[in-house]
Amino acid sequence: MLEIKNLHVKVGDKEILKGVDLNIGDGEVHAIMGPNGAGKSTLSYALAGRDGYEITDGEVLFRGKNLLDLDAHERAGEGMFLGFQYPVEIPGVSNMNFLKTAVNSLRKYRGEEDMPAVELLKLVREKAKELDLDPEMLKRPVNVGFSGGEKKRNEMVQMAVLDPVFALLDETDSGLDIDALRVVSEGINRLRSPEKSILLITHYQRLLDYVVPDFVHVLADGRIVKSGGKELALVLEKEGYAGIGIEDTAA
Ligand code: ADP
Ligand code: MG
Ligand code: MG
Repeated sequence: MLEIKNLHVKVGDKEILKGVDLNIGDGEVHAIMGPNGAGKSTLSYALAGRDGYEITDGEVLFRGKNLLDLDAHERAGEGMFLGFQYPVEIPGVSNMNFLKTAVNSLRKYRGEEDMPAVELLKLVREKAKELDLDPEMLKRPVNVGFSGGEKKRNEMVQMAVLDPVFALLDETDSGLDIDALRVVSEGINRLRSPEKSILLITHYQRLLDYVVPDFVHVLADGRIVKSGGKELALVLEKEGYAGIGIEDTAA
């Protein structure tokens, strides 16, 4: 699904990622944990192709294609969903219209006709219901005035409607109360299937109680310094990053 080889990323003059290697197979759920400032968000922005994140070495293959050659629209069209720590607010665009544009742009990329409006409305309402998002929120501008939990629910609705083959979620659990955490976990778990893969990036172990990963990696100072199974997250919870010999300056 995703193969990251020796990825080096610079932000401004500073090298943040110093050779990241990671292989994610079909159907696998991977978690990347790590202390604050390790480069977790830099990795997600680099995979998203955000401006200002300069790839100085390495390569990334997404389903056999060179990801770094694809623009954001093409990445989405190929089936990648990116969720971020701070979801963007889009004043003036209703949630429903946003989803309509997103769905139809994916379909266009894949050479398909627009989804009929009635079908789209039904799909979006169904996903909103499953994920406990008040249907009234579909009429409101994207994320404007939403609470942290509502933004995350909304992100899960977007993900469910777009039905990606690979989802990367950065700190999707931060600032969530326990109910919202459950909803978000359910959104992620619903996506799990033998054909789909998920990369969760999180500072905390908490989310991994609900979404049990197949593999856990620790990113520190721009490199993956340790990989293991789900038990690695439990070790980190109990002993902290210090337990595996990593300094967490922000802790
Ligand atoms: P994490 O998500 O693991 O907390 P980040 O990827 O956000 O870490 O940050 C990694 C390092 O890169 C930090 O030292 C941070 O200060 C630095 N950094 C991130 N974004 C920028 C930026 N736009 N300009 C300069 N330094 C940055
Ligand atoms: Mg951070
Ligand atoms: Mg971060």
